[in-house]
Amino acid sequence: MYSKRSNGGKTCAVCGTWHEDPHYSYRSKDDRSYCQKCDKLVSEANSKGGREAAEKLRQEIRQKNGLI
Ligand SMILES: [Zn+2]
Repeated sequence: MYSKRSNGGKTCAVCGTWHEDPHYSYRSKDDRSYCQKCDKLVSEANSKGGREAAEKLRQEIRQKNGLI
């Protein structure tokens, strides 16, 4: 998938930034594919505008970071 594991961390599937593993452990789950910051943004978009808004935001962040 999107994540590249290395040196006790990996690349976030949304923003493409490398973070250490603890950044992917939240809401009682480990090894999530988004960093905590992206998860927060995506959850906010999701609660305001639903699944479509969340997907749109993910695309926007990926585009901004040159991932797509
Ligand atoms: Zn991220």
